[in-house]
Amino acid sequence: MLEATEKIKEALKERAHDESRPFCYSDYITVEANESGEYFCPKCGSDDLMREVEGVGVEWGYEWVMEHIVETEGEKVDIEELYRDLLDEIYEPVRFGDLEYSPATVLESVDPTAFRMGANEYADSEMEDSRLIYLNGTYFRLDGITE
Ligand SMILES: [Zn+2]
Repeated sequence: MLEATEKIKEALKERAHDESRPFCYSDYITVEANESGEYFCPKCGSDDLMREVEGVGVEWGYEWVMEHIVETEGEKVDIEELYRDLLDEIYEPVRFGDLEYSPATVLESVDPTAFRMGANEYADSEMEDSRLIYLNGTYFRLDGITE
């Protein structure tokens, strides 16, 4: 199940449309557009068509094509690593005399629960800003789709 803003889903669906082709399952053929640019199976006349991605498969709808694009073209994002970078960027190092620790290391060691909650909240806000796509337990960035 793919989670993202409507804006991202629309853009992904467009790309899924471009990267897949209509397919009549009963006749097992790819359907080309007719002169009017419409898609009807030349054999049975049906416009109730599946989508085909060459070398990948044939299924109903766009959702599976969208997921395939994210999985193959997306860049996996380690959200905890991003959150560590953010914490180290916005907070001063924690100092005890001569000793110095990164804020992320301190939070993660002292209160792992707070760290994980913070990372989840950060992921949510990145999702809301269309900067991440969530698919099957992994966050992704995708060129031309996420901000
Ligand atoms: Zn057909």
